[in-house]
Amino acid sequence: MIMILYEAKSASRNGGKVARKDGRYQVWEVKCLKEGQRIFLKSLDAKGAINICQDKDNIINVMVEGNRAMHVEKLLRERNIIYQVTVTDTTGKFGPPYRVKSPSLIVNRHKSPSKGIMDWKDFYPLETINKFLDSLEKHFPSICTVSVMGTSVEGRDIKLLKISNSDASNTAVWLDGAIHAREWISTAVVTYIADHIAKHFDTLSTSITNKDWYLVPVVNPDGYHHSHAVDRMWRKNRARFGNTITGVDLNRNFGNNWGRSGGNEFSSGDPNHINYRGFEPFSEPESAAIKDLILYSGTPFKIFLTFHAYSEVISFPWCYTADPCPDYVNLLEGGTVMAKAIYDTNGRMYKVGNFKDIMYYASGTSIDWSYGTARIPFSYLVELRSKQDKFVLPKDQIEDTCKEALNGVKALAEFVDKKKCLNCDVYTSKKVR
Ligand SMILES: [Zn+2]
Repeated sequence: MIMILYEAKSASRNGGKVARKDGRYQVWEVKCLKEGQRIFLKSLDAKGAINICQDKDNIINVMVEGNRAMHVEKLLRERNIIYQVTVTDTTGKFGPPYRVKSPSLIVNRHKSPSKGIMDWKDFYPLETINKFLDSLEKHFPSICTVSVMGTSVEGRDIKLLKISNSDASNTAVWLDGAIHAREWISTAVVTYIADHIAKHFDTLSTSITNKDWYLVPVVNPDGYHHSHAVDRMWRKNRARFGNTITGVDLNRNFGNNWGRSGGNEFSSGDPNHINYRGFEPFSEPESAAIKDLILYSGTPFKIFLTFHAYSEVISFPWCYTADPCPDYVNLLEGGTVMAKAIYDTNGRMYKVGNFKDIMYYASGTSIDWSYGTARIPFSYLVELRSKQDKFVLPKDQIEDTCKEALNGVKALAEFVDKKKCLNCDVYTSKKVR
């Protein structure tokens, strides 16, 4: 008891701030001034995100697992619920008096969050995609968190959805779409995967639930909006050069071998060129947002997947050279596992290989950076359908493309777990390039 009081005192000396991830359990004193706030807290308790220990007058004492603290903090802050940390149990010897339940997805199980907002029978504008992400967070608050990871050139939010059971031992997966504006199917695929993981989290295999999923359906919101509203074939972001909006090819703006020469085949220094690389590495807020999120998250990312259209290939580093990367064999094997799962779904044959071999030269790409600088061992650029229809994929192929991509990702997640130790040890001993 004396010990608890001491802990409480030291917590208040720290201004009552949450000691993130440094304690196994914390006790929070939450003030519920409105009935709605109390109901919300009880719903978190029912889902196992917190444990209510005491409920008296307007004060509710709850236990929060250290590694869930950030997530719960965000949920309370969004609803203007006042709380303070009263006990930070750094040793774990006090708790938990009540068993902390595993998170489950009880809320609105019968209702589909996508229902009425979007489906995968059509392509949708940015506002709809963002609403869809928010609805996932609303329906599955114990595992879904939406945040703004950055702001585009024209001031639009770049929204990130994280799906996670907050287990501290998780590794992370990155999935993004629409770095190139007109490649709409990539956004459909990322939202489809998000929807599937959030809705079926309870029944999915461990190779999915043991990971933190970071999903960004629209990396380039300005370009995406422009391709919907004005020019269907717009590719770049909406950066200005002088008085003209010429745009930067965000997939030539990353800082690994940025601007490496080779004429316009690699990337271009001409603002009017479709592969304009920008004036310096990460000159654009959209690519810089990815860099910052990944480098400063402190999360060990194992998988980086960026979706494009339309060549039906699974490619991996390097893009800037024809030389094989150090993990060529592992990446080829992982890519082949993905391609097999895709083939088994719909009979579609995706080619696998290093980017230069199956596409062309490119420098300053996101996968060369994620692999070579952020050291994410399984980095892939997936070109979705379709070779026949190019960027304008018929709507009746959206769902099939999403299903095959989801199965490819699931197969990769499983493969990476099996390769875990071998690959990590090999990789960390290598020099960053
Ligand atoms: Zn692309």
